[in-house]
Amino acid sequence: AHLDRIAEVDGSVNAFLHVNTEEALAVAADVDKARAAGEDLPVLAGVPIAIKDLIVTVGQPTTAGSKILEGWMSPYDATVIKKIRAAKMPMLGKTNLDEFAMGSSTEHSAYGPTRNPWDLDRIPGGSGGGSAAAVAAFEAPLALGTDTGGSIRQPASVTGSVGVKPTYGGVSRYGAIAMASSLDQIGPVSRTVLDSALLHEVIGGHDPHDSTSLTDPVGALAEAARNGDVRGLRIGVVRELQGEGYDAGVQERFDESLELLRGAGAEIVEVSCPNFRYALGAYYLIMPSEASSNLAKFDGVRYGQRVLPTDGPLTIERVMGATRAAGFGDEVKRRIILGTYALSAGYYDAYYGSAQKVRTLVQRDFDAAFAQADVLISPTAPTTAFKLGEKLDDPLAMYLNDVATIPANLAGVPGISVPGGLADGLPVGIQFLAPAREDARLYRVGHVLE
Ligand code: GLN
Repeated sequence: AHLDRIAEVDGSVNAFLHVNTEEALAVAADVDKARAAGEDLPVLAGVPIAIKDLIVTVGQPTTAGSKILEGWMSPYDATVIKKIRAAKMPMLGKTNLDEFAMGSSTEHSAYGPTRNPWDLDRIPGGSGGGSAAAVAAFEAPLALGTDTGGSIRQPASVTGSVGVKPTYGGVSRYGAIAMASSLDQIGPVSRTVLDSALLHEVIGGHDPHDSTSLTDPVGALAEAARNGDVRGLRIGVVRELQGEGYDAGVQERFDESLELLRGAGAEIVEVSCPNFRYALGAYYLIMPSEASSNLAKFDGVRYGQRVLPTDGPLTIERVMGATRAAGFGDEVKRRIILGTYALSAGYYDAYYGSAQKVRTLVQRDFDAAFAQADVLISPTAPTTAFKLGEKLDDPLAMYLNDVATIPANLAGVPGISVPGGLADGLPVGIQFLAPAREDARLYRVGHVLE
């Protein structure tokens, strides 16, 4: 049914870069057979899933939304893909994204933008717009995304979906093409909070292949989602993540959510995180710095496309230059230049070094806020889905859409975006943040807003 739905709508939504028809049907048939034989099956067996095309898969191409990886096939599966296979979940295919996950609208994909199923003239968020649009358009019940600065939560917010960034280290990053390694996390996208919890339980847990992987057990996340008891829970409204810059419609839905939570027995308190106002600036130094280093491996020798210079000698530097000039899009080049500059001798202390100090201050703000509240709440994004093309020529306006999601990545804490109603017919997302390792709280409180 999902493959039929993809055939029906994906011509206009463009959520998928690759549809994995044969393998998905084979896995589904295996599950049917096992079920008929009365075998014990994993809880999500037979439930199809779409995979953000930043996560490597054997048997399906992985492009990272970039021309430079066109036609490249990974020789190994990401750890989360191994887990999806073990859970007997049919993979429907690979979903569109901003090139190397850099963007907030999926317009920076080398393979054309994804459109928001709520209004095809609007963006589905980014970078994981393909995963969120696939879920929102009923092309897939579940999807995987990656979140470095909001790429799971912001797309979920503007498509009326649920999206979760787990605690840093809670889900293995092995096989997620690295954007900014100290910020990246893989996580679930779904239509309900419980669905995300079930998927999170499948993909989470320790992995010796990821040196930053936590050794903690995943925790009873689905149980928390089913429970939904928030009586006495202290929910902290972050003063700095609302007001100026946030749409009136977003603010209204946000205020209503507070009332709803209060009605469910939660205690609403106000907290202040003064350094959050520097988080966006710090992120856009740290993230490009790490990316400029991570993307150095795309050299025309080891991966994907190789472009030869049209004249002059064929030195390795010139082949690398021609390959990267042709293979990377403008946003990726912008960030590589920014990151290289921020890391260069003489500028390192002023830019990268200062940004790391801000990062510590943001972490301290979280510590102070979590001393007063069990979870924090804010709008996920300052606006609803904007029009395609609206912010394409203005990188700073695009970056500002991440203002509420970025602090969580800088501190490594988990976050969820849950649908919080509509403003002018477009979905508004509400974000909850919890202390590191307390992902279960997000599912418990998130369920109340559904
Ligand atoms: N939109 C943010 C950026 O462009 C976040 C990206 C992400 O989370 N992968 O950097």
